Amino acid sequence: MNYLWTMSMKKISNYINGRSTAPVSGNYLDNYEPATGKIYSHIPDSDQEDVELAIQAAKNALPLWKALSMRERSNYMLAIADRIQERAEELALAESKDNGKPVKLAAEVDIPRASANMRFFASAILHDENASYQSDDDAINYSHRSPLGVVACISPWNLPLYLFTWKIAPALASGNCVLAKPSEVTPYTAFLLGEICQEVGLPAGVLNIIHGLGAKAGRAIVEHPEIQAISFTGGTSTGAAIAKSAAPRFKKLSLELGGKNATVIFDDCDYADMLSTVTRASFSNQGQICLCGSRILVQKGLYEQFKKDFVEKVENLKVGPPHLSESKLGAVVSEAHMNKVLGYVDLAKSEGGSVLCGGIRLIMEGEFKEGWYIAPTVIEGLSMDCRTNQEEIFGPVVTIMPFDTEQEGLALANASKYGLASSVWTSDLKRAHRMAHGIEAGIIWINTWLLRDLRTPFGGVKDSGVGREGGYHALHFFTEEKNVCIKL
Ligand code: NDP
Repeated sequence: MNYLWTMSMKKISNYINGRSTAPVSGNYLDNYEPATGKIYSHIPDSDQEDVELAIQAAKNALPLWKALSMRERSNYMLAIADRIQERAEELALAESKDNGKPVKLAAEVDIPRASANMRFFASAILHDENASYQSDDDAINYSHRSPLGVVACISPWNLPLYLFTWKIAPALASGNCVLAKPSEVTPYTAFLLGEICQEVGLPAGVLNIIHGLGAKAGRAIVEHPEIQAISFTGGTSTGAAIAKSAAPRFKKLSLELGGKNATVIFDDCDYADMLSTVTRASFSNQGQICLCGSRILVQKGLYEQFKKDFVEKVENLKVGPPHLSESKLGAVVSEAHMNKVLGYVDLAKSEGGSVLCGGIRLIMEGEFKEGWYIAPTVIEGLSMDCRTNQEEIFGPVVTIMPFDTEQEGLALANASKYGLASSVWTSDLKRAHRMAHGIEAGIIWINTWLLRDLRTPFGGVKDSGVGREGGYHALHFFTEEKNVCIKL
């Protein structure tokens, strides 16, 4: 089934104090549709003044929101989850228009997950537990958690509503009021979330959504003295800038940053399962998932066979307009990003790499001819220390490289400043555990990829970030824990 590529996009507004609100300055930014390369809506170019309004609204709402019972907060969040489900078709189309991803992907992954995020944390808050300690000296200690206050949630463009709600949900569930900013490149579903909050009657000021540039609106949010904690997902250099500004004020930080994930394939793997999953792990969402495997390491006995079959599979991946159900890859998110990704293909060639397939911009027909499409690209012949293998490309480009022993595979997997995720393909159980324990990353998949359980810790090591999201990790991040000691 193809999707209808029609949707009248309005001028987007901020959502402040429970209302759609125009930016104080009256200034707007253009919002582009990656599939066609055309401007299709306008978003507030928010600044300090809009942030001040949102801070005030959040501070006013805080006493009421944190005084609600957990059940009452949970009910508001469940109503949001239901409404996301009811408006799923519209949200999926909006996500695709904004981001360029296939509508099918947004409909099957992004939007259901956004609803699931709300539902998960609405339930989790009802099932949390606190520790208590009986002391020998006739006393009992228990830990008490309270919300932090007004917090910031900043998310990137690759999985817009999915990651936006992944941050907002635990913050709200824990009793905080939130200032949230989506990426200026993909604002539309966040705007629609504001509408949904109004529809379900979320109390004014509990969630405030500010649109605009990271360096202006985002910066004004994270640097505001009233912001107690920042949950950020985005690039490593932005994360470093945020950490620097947060340090003197001792703000709590959760930073989910870039990745350059290794896929390690051993000779003894289940070949058919590996081949189809590794193809998905390389190019889902045009390779614009922080968890995509972009460095594929293949044991020598399998390398030539893998190279042949993988390239054939990748050449058959259909790139096309996002509303066509046959399109496995849509457009990349922006013209600047397309040029950056293609620049890395040139760099790879200059570093001695051979492009086995892809490596070029694809031109579609009709209204899509100016869209930003890239053929999925496989490169071999590079050393692990070259820039192509060390820098995050975040697009449909992977490198393949042979290795000999398990030790060598592990060393190559760890030869990166990043450490977000990794997947290992082997039928040897002991080796699977050895690799899982040895790889320097926060998330390891064995014989699978992107199989997610929302209760599990999620986050990276090294330059991929600090802190863990997911389950109680996220709920507890948004609380302050206090010990209460009672003499019996
Ligand atoms: P950016 O770091 O450019 O932006 C992320 C968000 O931060 C955007 O909303 C951006 O706004 C905002 N921002 C930018 N500068 C500032 C600032 N100085 N202060 C406050 N906010 C700011 O990342 P991208 O949007 O380009 O996203 C891609 C990156 O995200 C990749 O590196 C990817 O690996 C990473 N990522 C990590 C994930 C993880 O879980 N570890 C998951 C998904 C992505 P604006 O866009 O308007 O500039």
